[in-house]
Amino acid sequence: MGQVLRMGTGAAQAATHGGKVYLVGAGPGDPELLTLRAATLLREADAIVYDHLVGEGIMDMASPAAQKICVGKRSGRHTLPQVQINRLLVRLAGEGKRVVRLKGGDPFIFGRGGEELEELAAAGIGFEVVPGITAASGMSAYAGIPLTPRNHDRACVFATGHLKDGSCDLDWPLLARPNQTVVIYMGVGALTEICARLVANGLPAHTPAAVVQNATTPRQRSVAGSLAALPELVAAAGIQAPALIVIGEVVGLQANLNWFQPHLQESERGDPVTA
Ligand code: SAH
Repeated sequence: MGQVLRMGTGAAQAATHGGKVYLVGAGPGDPELLTLRAATLLREADAIVYDHLVGEGIMDMASPAAQKICVGKRSGRHTLPQVQINRLLVRLAGEGKRVVRLKGGDPFIFGRGGEELEELAAAGIGFEVVPGITAASGMSAYAGIPLTPRNHDRACVFATGHLKDGSCDLDWPLLARPNQTVVIYMGVGALTEICARLVANGLPAHTPAAVVQNATTPRQRSVAGSLAALPELVAAAGIQAPALIVIGEVVGLQANLNWFQPHLQESERGDPVTA
């Protein structure tokens, strides 16, 4: 009694029952932040469908024999439309393959993982989900910004700065509430609007905020300043996606906790606003 019977790995089961899709989070960038489960599935996969946010070095862990399909280029211009990605997953699994659908961060946090699974469910294809470290957690750890420290902020909100129609129509009164930390994904392009709206909705212009690009990778860079000053600092530093915006008093902790010092190029080392 009480014994747990393991039927083998999910991938092994899939081999006997036909194709299956594993929706796997690849974490925020550093390959060491991959889960053990993700590493096992990458080694066992017949096909891997991945996007541009998957950290460098992670695909090297896949079996050389696996079919590797990139469905999103960094520029964003060559991204395969979601409908076609869904169809591709259905087709590959329909061929009896063990398919890993590898996504940056966690597949259920601004990852559209749920949409892909609904399509698989409708097609009667089995699936599993493997969580990953979401960018906000990776950024928090590697940039030295604890998101919910005691005696600091009482809530932490994750929001996206990019909506389907290209607008940035967030719940500003909610985001501008005091005593909370706000992390905004996909928001760096709309940074000026975001900072202005938060101030217009009541957040003091001196509230600390930061933008962290390529968190957890050797190319991590961060810029911190007040809400009022941040857009200019970020533009001057040339910070671009993928980057997170973090807003709240917790940003002040970075001064003492910023332990991760990736090897920056000489030109970047001299820049006083990058860390
Ligand atoms: N599912 C992912 C998020 C996908 S949305 C996750 O859980 O992390 C894509 C956005 O995530 C990017 O625009 C950026 O805002 C953020 N992001 C992903 N990786 C990042 C990284 N290494 N550093 C900073 N932001 C990152």
